[in-house]
Amino acid sequence: MLEPWRSNISGYSRLLLAKLFPRDYSKELAKTAHCPPLLGIETTNICNADCVFCAYQYMERPKIIMDFDLYRKIVDDYAECGGRNVGLAVTVGDPLLDPRLLDRIAYGRSRGMQGFGFFTNGILLHKFAQKALLTSGLAALHISLAGFDRETYKKIYRVDIYHRVIDNTVKLAEVNNLLGRPVKITVSVRSSLPIRQLIKTEDYRRLRSLGVPVEFAIRYDSWSGKIRPEDLQGVMRMRPLPQKKQPCGALWFGATVHADGAFTVCGCRDLDGTSELTLGNLKEQSLHDLWTSEKLQHIKRHFTTVLPDICVDCTQYSPVSILNSWHFSLIRDIRPLAVACPEHA
Ligand code: SF4
Ligand code: SF4
Repeated sequence: MLEPWRSNISGYSRLLLAKLFPRDYSKELAKTAHCPPLLGIETTNICNADCVFCAYQYMERPKIIMDFDLYRKIVDDYAECGGRNVGLAVTVGDPLLDPRLLDRIAYGRSRGMQGFGFFTNGILLHKFAQKALLTSGLAALHISLAGFDRETYKKIYRVDIYHRVIDNTVKLAEVNNLLGRPVKITVSVRSSLPIRQLIKTEDYRRLRSLGVPVEFAIRYDSWSGKIRPEDLQGVMRMRPLPQKKQPCGALWFGATVHADGAFTVCGCRDLDGTSELTLGNLKEQSLHDLWTSEKLQHIKRHFTTVLPDICVDCTQYSPVSILNSWHFSLIRDIRPLAVACPEHA
């Protein structure tokens, strides 16, 4: 899945900005020393699509739904660290396949959490009561589509279900509008067709008339070499490999717990939780201990000289010097450790 928390600025503009205006954000980043500003919780790594551009097809982890007691422990750990922002973004998988999705949001809210945004392919949206989903506390929903016709969807997502997805999306947007737009719904298009063709379609116009923003991806990540140019179709192109002259922002903003409890600082690309960016497992260890571990500090300090193996061929890299208002708001939301967890005072 593509992570919903990225800035709207394209990857290229972000890299250019970092090059032209390098900034020292060490003071801001120091405020994250005791707690990740955002915690992704992958409540399931199962998916019901098989997109050509996604490494889900190569995942070797068992496909599971996260145990609810483990989920509670993770949220409790995060609350004790001082964290408030939870994303249900997965490394791969679709959160709508989790039958207790709304219970998880409710439990998170009961512990003072907010956010809960996620990407979905929307295939199962009709299984949820729309009002319950839209008023659950979910802040943002990114629905991904392969374009606006059945054949393209079949080619790129490799399931024949376009009409249901567009129907689900339109109905949800209509109810969201009636409720005063409690959820920021965005459609993200990963298509083999050119944008000029996509924006002429009737379904694109329907979504726009409902006020739904539609974003288009053109460049695709290789998932550290797993996805190759020949996997892509039509106008889809691979991203070029960027130089990595600063630590990657994921080391501060990409903390994610996999469905089996494995804790990685790169929820974007640590597909199997087997890289050096996986620091331990929250079944047995505390989030605070892993986040403050010497191993992570070492990776951050030496990133540019001893690149972790998983980062060498990664085109998803985003230098840490490009923080935007969204990153700052996440940092501001972190509570001091003494307030979050009196026993650490
Ligand atoms: S829907 Fe998402 S997780 Fe599933 S295969 Fe496509 S990109 Fe990957
Ligand atoms: S360079 Fe890529 S793999 Fe490494 S931390 Fe950044 S996004 Fe993750």
